[in-house]
Amino acid sequence: MNADVVIVGAGPAGIFTALEMLKKGSKQKIVMVEKGQSVEKRHCPKDKTGHCMNCKPYCHITTGFSGAGAFSDGKLSLSCEVGGDLPTLIGENLAQETINYADQIYLDFGADDHIEGLGNDTERKEIRKHAIQAGLKLVDCPIRHLGTEKAQSLYLAIEKYLLEQGVEILFGYECSNILLENDLCRGVSISDGKIEQEIYAKHTVVATGRRGADWLEKLCAEHNIAHAPGTVDIGVRVEVRNEVMEMVNRVLYESKLIGYPRPFKNKVRTFCQNPGGFVSQENYDKNLAVVNGHSYKDLKTDNTNLAILCSHNFSVPFNQPIAYAQKVGELTNMLGDGHILVQRFGDILDGKRTWQKELAQSNIRPTLPDAVAGDITAAMPYRSMVNIIGFIQAMDHVVPGFASTETLLYSPELKFYSNRVKMDSDFNTSLRGLHCLGDSSGWTRGLMMASVMGTLMGRKIAEEG
Ligand SMILES: Cc1cc2nc3c(=O)[nH]c(=O)nc-3n(C[C@H](O)[C@H](O)[C@H](O)COP(=O)(O)OP(=O)(O)OC[C@H]3O[C@@H](n4cnc5c(N)ncnc54)[C@H](O)[C@@H]3O)c2cc1C
Repeated sequence: MNADVVIVGAGPAGIFTALEMLKKGSKQKIVMVEKGQSVEKRHCPKDKTGHCMNCKPYCHITTGFSGAGAFSDGKLSLSCEVGGDLPTLIGENLAQETINYADQIYLDFGADDHIEGLGNDTERKEIRKHAIQAGLKLVDCPIRHLGTEKAQSLYLAIEKYLLEQGVEILFGYECSNILLENDLCRGVSISDGKIEQEIYAKHTVVATGRRGADWLEKLCAEHNIAHAPGTVDIGVRVEVRNEVMEMVNRVLYESKLIGYPRPFKNKVRTFCQNPGGFVSQENYDKNLAVVNGHSYKDLKTDNTNLAILCSHNFSVPFNQPIAYAQKVGELTNMLGDGHILVQRFGDILDGKRTWQKELAQSNIRPTLPDAVAGDITAAMPYRSMVNIIGFIQAMDHVVPGFASTETLLYSPELKFYSNRVKMDSDFNTSLRGLHCLGDSSGWTRGLMMASVMGTLMGRKIAEEG
């Protein structure tokens, strides 16, 4: 098959590449290859079974049209200070301008026009004052919250639009490799599990998301695509009662706090806060169960969850951050007999595991019922654990009660942003015709930044006609 552009991965980065090409009136032939299903065929059986079924060959939460976005909480971060390091590649002004532009596209496809995290100046100042006293930096970030159920209908509208406009989307096809002629990328090999085929294109855009980061790393090694080992984030998902987070939830909606706790002084940060939300489980390749969180627009719980993440870098002699984080995850899964582990903060300080019956002694009830009470400290690296404990204690000054005995810590929360592909500001890799976008490229960490990267890619390709 021949095309002008082949896009591997129909997550926000891939989708916005195609959308922007169409918006700019490009007549080029676009083919998208997506190993999962269309939005309407994506169903997580957990809604019916109540627990994760570890679906094979892939998890519907992270795979399919709109990528990890469709079933995600759909919180669009509207500040270029959040969502990855793309601004260091393209400049802060362009990043912010394109965020505003992509945000308008989300609005055009039906996003709620309300923005969280604006106003309340007096209370915001009060929160910042406490953050300063605790040695934490508060990052301002307005949020447009799509909500898990609304995100699905919004991405369905985009899917229909792309198909109506003649974009060919090959669902159920996995890209196995790129096609090379010296240092020129000529396209990709794909397979639906039965038949292998090749797609030749002038531009090959790889946007395979977090799930595809491993695969892309192997591709970089095999074809000598210039890249650098990136960071990996290891942490926990913290869950507390809404009463504890009431002021921060109301004033900021999402608290973006960053600290460098003693003695290691590594960067530790809050991420993905879900007021009234649910703690959830995702399954990565090789049955790796990791924890995450999301919230619905209307269906609310009594709890708020958020991630606390520590960044890890490696140099010599070991530089495989993904493999490192996977081992931490595997060990944690082993201790939880394949389930997510949960432990009370007070038990961690007391040096004891949490027992299932002890969870019922608290005000808080876990929103991930299949999590297993145990000892996360038996699998968490010492450095990460010390960082997390120090950070939670600092957070207690901003959010009194955050470091209480009953606060729940779920593990493993892992973010694979590894393997940063080296590119110029037009997203050209060291192979001609090959571009890498979104979370798998190592440059983004969220829906909006992935959408921004796709938009700029689409604009660049559309300039050719
Ligand atoms: C539960 C959850 C909640 C989240 N909540 C938020 C949030 O509220 N706000 C936010 O900003 N971010 C959130 N995120 C992160 C966000 O979803 C991602 O940052 C974003 O989707 C990245 O976009 P992407 O296009 O780079 O990759 P993805 O969205 O991951 O899409 C990649 C696509 O590529 C496909 N693919 C992978 N490998 C191949 C292959 N070899 N061949 C063919 N197809 C392939 C995958 O099936 C997938 O559909 C959340 C993620 C999860 C899992």
